Amino acid sequence: MTRRVAVVGGGLAGITAALRCADAGHEVTLLESRGLLGGLTHSFTRDGLHVDNGQHVFLRCCTAYLGLLERLGVTDRVHLQPRLEIPVHAPGSRRPVWLRRNPLPAPLHLADSVLRYGPLGLGDRMRFAGAALALKSVDPAAPSSDRRTFGEWLAAHGQSHAAITRLWDLVGIATLNARAEHASLGLAATVFQIGLLTDAAAADIGWATVPLRRLHGEPALARLTEAGVRVRLNTKVTGLSRDGGAWRVGADEPVEADQVVLAVPPPAAAKLLPEGAVRLPPDFAERLGSSPIVNVHVVFDRRVTSQPFFAAIDSPVQWVFDRTASSGLDRGQYLAISISAAEAEIEEPVRVLRERMLPALGEVLPAARGAEVLDFFVTRERHATFRPAPGSAGLRPPARTRAPGLVLAGAWTATGWPATMEGAVRSGEAAAQAVLGTPAGVPGRSEGIPA
Ligand SMILES: Cc1cc2nc3c(=O)[nH]c(=O)nc-3n(C[C@H](O)[C@H](O)[C@H](O)COP(=O)(O)OP(=O)(O)OC[C@H]3O[C@@H](n4cnc5c(N)ncnc54)[C@H](O)[C@@H]3O)c2cc1C
Repeated sequence: MTRRVAVVGGGLAGITAALRCADAGHEVTLLESRGLLGGLTHSFTRDGLHVDNGQHVFLRCCTAYLGLLERLGVTDRVHLQPRLEIPVHAPGSRRPVWLRRNPLPAPLHLADSVLRYGPLGLGDRMRFAGAALALKSVDPAAPSSDRRTFGEWLAAHGQSHAAITRLWDLVGIATLNARAEHASLGLAATVFQIGLLTDAAAADIGWATVPLRRLHGEPALARLTEAGVRVRLNTKVTGLSRDGGAWRVGADEPVEADQVVLAVPPPAAAKLLPEGAVRLPPDFAERLGSSPIVNVHVVFDRRVTSQPFFAAIDSPVQWVFDRTASSGLDRGQYLAISISAAEAEIEEPVRVLRERMLPALGEVLPAARGAEVLDFFVTRERHATFRPAPGSAGLRPPARTRAPGLVLAGAWTATGWPATMEGAVRSGEAAAQAVLGTPAGVPGRSEGIPA
């Protein structure tokens, strides 16, 4: 039986749910308050330069996200490393140290890299292995894992401050959007177990070779339209109510639907959810909170690095990506410095960030010191992710609500993952499964992706 499905929110979660429901033969309307699809993954043009709102990466283990890219027909617009390798720069050192996987199965695939990891003393390197093995047996879903910080757990497992900041946080801050001292043990265990401790290839890193709107928003609009979805941009949903047996989705032109997928961020969901629809405290959105990400964009007059990306330790510079080709720049080099858990940076004026970040970049990348800065600007996402703090698991609802025909999606819902593109797509899959009445499960991509 064809059902009328309204999807509210056109981020990756809403796009996924809408495509799934349309592919299953339902009549779908997607309502998005902004003028474009893609939600937190978008890009804009500045003086001819294509700029992402923030650098996004994915890992080979992000199978649901890779499945979405395949459905959108854009797998040729990303690059996935054939084998994990991360150059790590520290202030004052001329050469990076490398974290590389070897051909051995996990967790041995990183053993030689960690044993040779110069920024840590030998004792720390040895103790890292013990903690990594112990982390493998932490139950990410256990309430006790959600009550504790990852930092506290690491310290209890013999990890020094240096080991936490120079190795664990290197991965953790970018994937969790929080430092170990603020992150829930449960979410950290998920990230490290899936990414580093189970499958050797899982953490190979992928990134877009085009601006984000060409990877997500624009192809999504094309595929949704082809699939028969009515996409209504610039349409803010202002209320949800039951009218007889159907839902009335309040907007400038209201929509009637048998089922609704609410795929909006927590504060918008809190406003739209009918009373009693979820088993959460009324102030769940404020309690879940959010965590900011800042990107500092620097255009140099010449090439200053040959790496597509690198990480930095003992520095406010966390991760740096070469965006020259994807931005359309034809001379010089454009680097995006991605700063996660950016509470200290989010309100800083551009001038202050320039005074701090350019010297810091020069310390880890000496070639940048002699280069002329042709452009410098900052993008800020105050609510980039929910705050992955202890207690967050209890504030993330499952897809099914108590209101008949009303389903939730979004990276913040109970996916078990931190707020990531993978989590968003998984939540969209789960919402579609709830609408379609089929058992939950996440289909992965079916074929290879160009490396
Ligand atoms: C700077 C930055 C860097 C990031 N880096 C990474 C990364 O490297 N890797 C990774 O995996 N993830 C990363 N993330 C996280 C990732 O982008 C998000 O988890 C994911 O995109 C969230 O998708 P979503 O669909 O759940 O929510 P959103 O993208 O927030 O989509 C919700 C949509 O709902 C719309 N909406 C809200 N209210 C209404 C309303 N009333 N009516 C209609 N529409 C409404 C919004 O406009 C929005 O389009 C990053 C995020 C940011 C901001």
